[in-house]
Amino acid sequence: NLQVLLRRRPVGAPTPEDFEIVETPPPAPGEGEVLVRARYLSLDPYMRGRMSDAPSYARPVAVGAVMEGRTAGEVVASRDPRFKPGDLVAGGYGWQRYSAVGGERLIKVDESEAPLSAWLGVLGMPGLTAWVGLEDIGQPKAGETVVVSAASGAVGQVVGQIAKIRGCKVIGIAGGPAKCDFVVRELGFDACLDHRGDLAAQLDAACPEGIDVYWENVGGPVQAAVFPRLRDFGRMVMCGMIAQYNEVPGANAAGAPPGPNLGPVVRKRLRIQGFIVSDTGWPRYPQFRARMLAWMREGRMKWREDVVEGLRNAPAAFIGLLQGRNFGKLVVKVD
Ligand code: NDP
Repeated sequence: NLQVLLRRRPVGAPTPEDFEIVETPPPAPGEGEVLVRARYLSLDPYMRGRMSDAPSYARPVAVGAVMEGRTAGEVVASRDPRFKPGDLVAGGYGWQRYSAVGGERLIKVDESEAPLSAWLGVLGMPGLTAWVGLEDIGQPKAGETVVVSAASGAVGQVVGQIAKIRGCKVIGIAGGPAKCDFVVRELGFDACLDHRGDLAAQLDAACPEGIDVYWENVGGPVQAAVFPRLRDFGRMVMCGMIAQYNEVPGANAAGAPPGPNLGPVVRKRLRIQGFIVSDTGWPRYPQFRARMLAWMREGRMKWREDVVEGLRNAPAAFIGLLQGRNFGKLVVKVD
């Protein structure tokens, strides 16, 4: 079994030396377990949190253990009557070729509905995140202005397209002209602003009336530019702040730019709420899946993946994700 382990906890940005690649015998499935051979591994920003032992909503990966992750692949052996060899599933575990997981953690998927890798992205955890966060917190109404950061990414592309379906004016924020072009031409956002330029001026031009819903994926200077432009009764969906995941606590506090002044939260009656998709998302997965598949069939939902070849390249790809080097949902083709 080819595996990627956490060799040590990174300080700041992860480096290749924080990971270790090993070959071990494949696991044997226990009673109720299914042996899955991964074809695709999902790489997601939350994994940076699992590499650290700072307090969090989830337990960290132990040093020396296989890196946390979800895979989509094929059942090769099963001790759960609901699955048989050859079935395609999402929900395999870890940065590894073979995993033995409880059948209750697996979702049977159908490649005639969508390619296998899509069950890790638009039809998987990132797509579910977008849907849950908009339903529960963003609640965009027709005619409102919605701003989405990391707009070309796994979550952002789905958020913006759902907001368009709801009849909103949707402005993306992304890094560089290629991503911005894609967000407007392919995904159909009304505009996309490059955060490497003068974001404040671009926001004033694109959203002269202000912003009703801000979907927060990045934090840092992007948040600082968007926040003062929220309108009365605006909603700020706190999904993630990837620009801050490599920060060393305390170390760069002195010279860091000031964060946004949250004082106007009261005057403007803003609602700022964080959420974790696993809190309430998975019990609603069947409803989400039906909705998303219908949008895909109707041609109203597009998605872009960034496919990296080979499990051995997962560490470098993950390091790149935290620097914006991916373009679309990042997945590893395991073989
Ligand atoms: P993406 O596919 O969007 O990839 C990450 C993107 O973030 C990069 O491509 C880059 O886009 C942007 N980025 C990375 N570093 C920086 C930086 N320093 N400054 C500004 N932008 C940066 O990832 P996901 O869609 O998977 O995740 C998006 C966010 O959603 C993350 O914060 C993640 O933690 C969060 N999330 C939260 C969940 C929850 O339950 N709350 C569940 C799933 C995801 P660009 O080049 O355009 O800047």
